[in-house]
Amino acid sequence: MKRRDFLKGAGVGLAAGAVSLPARAADLPEVKWRIASSFPKSLDTIFGGGEQFAKRVEQLTQGKFQIRVFAPGEIVPGLQVFDAVQQGTVEAGHSAGYYYVGKNKAFAFDTAVPFGLTARQQNAWFYYGGGLDLTREFYKEYGVINFPCGNTGTQMGGWFRKEIKSLADLKGVKMRIPGFGGEIMAKLGAVPQSLPGSDIYPSLEKGAIDAAEWVGPYDDEKLGLYKVAKHYYYPGWWEGGPTLSLYINQKEWEKLPEYYQQCITVAAAEANLHMLAEYDAKNPAALGKLIRGGAVLHPYPKDLMEAAAKIANELYEEEAGKNPAFKKIYDSWKRFRNDEFQWFRVAETTYANFTFSNVK
Ligand code: CA
Repeated sequence: MKRRDFLKGAGVGLAAGAVSLPARAADLPEVKWRIASSFPKSLDTIFGGGEQFAKRVEQLTQGKFQIRVFAPGEIVPGLQVFDAVQQGTVEAGHSAGYYYVGKNKAFAFDTAVPFGLTARQQNAWFYYGGGLDLTREFYKEYGVINFPCGNTGTQMGGWFRKEIKSLADLKGVKMRIPGFGGEIMAKLGAVPQSLPGSDIYPSLEKGAIDAAEWVGPYDDEKLGLYKVAKHYYYPGWWEGGPTLSLYINQKEWEKLPEYYQQCITVAAAEANLHMLAEYDAKNPAALGKLIRGGAVLHPYPKDLMEAAAKIANELYEEEAGKNPAFKKIYDSWKRFRNDEFQWFRVAETTYANFTFSNVK
């Protein structure tokens, strides 16, 4: 996307653009929307991101554009949010593309793919690397328009009842891990399971599963997983910086006055920024609490990471060979990823490696 197009499309430059603000609140039409969220209400970070977005739109329109956010099950189940938006059951949804890889694996790109981009690199790709154009072109086929609307940062790699000292220890381990990450775990010898957040604790407690991944310290602490599986692995190599998406029904989007479209664009970008900031601010204290509660931190064994990365890249090449929609995004994404990794190796990583370990 060219910079000028980005500014126009993203509404960053209200002062420079063609949008004129209505002079009085009375000129603004009343609009009421419903957002279905895929995330439990207990997650003030992710579910809260949707609410923050809705509140900001209301403020920007002086209360005329009201959006209510509904938890999973209130209108539709959490994993049917995209379908509800597509069918017009709700005007919009707050969800993650990778929940829908069963429809097409290309759905993963607007969230995360294993060994993919970090949160900052996701934003670079979306806003300046062609990612927003490519994912929008893909979602257009479904009558949906997408906006980046939150990011958790690099996730943790999950909770294990027994220590995993090398790749061999993964054999037969039943792990709650959805999507592409689960597919790779299966090729590594584990047995992936798909469970909603609320079922993780009881399943781990009674030994129905041996391991589970969720998000990171702040959200994981609420589930109490450290009490039933104390070995806490990092990093979540399948989620280097997952983006949550706001999905809007294209027809509903087109009905909005341009000013309201700009408000949505600005509010989504703000929510995208704030969620990551909130996680970064809250995770350190949560991690401390987990460690005091008995959690034992471990990095994933190197042989496991290496095998997983190799399998991931083979899976992408294989998928690109048979899925044109996947290939179109993947080819561009891969070039961008490789360039970003080269650059981040220079200043960013050198700075982080030295400073995070040596400055107190
Ligand atoms: Ca996760």
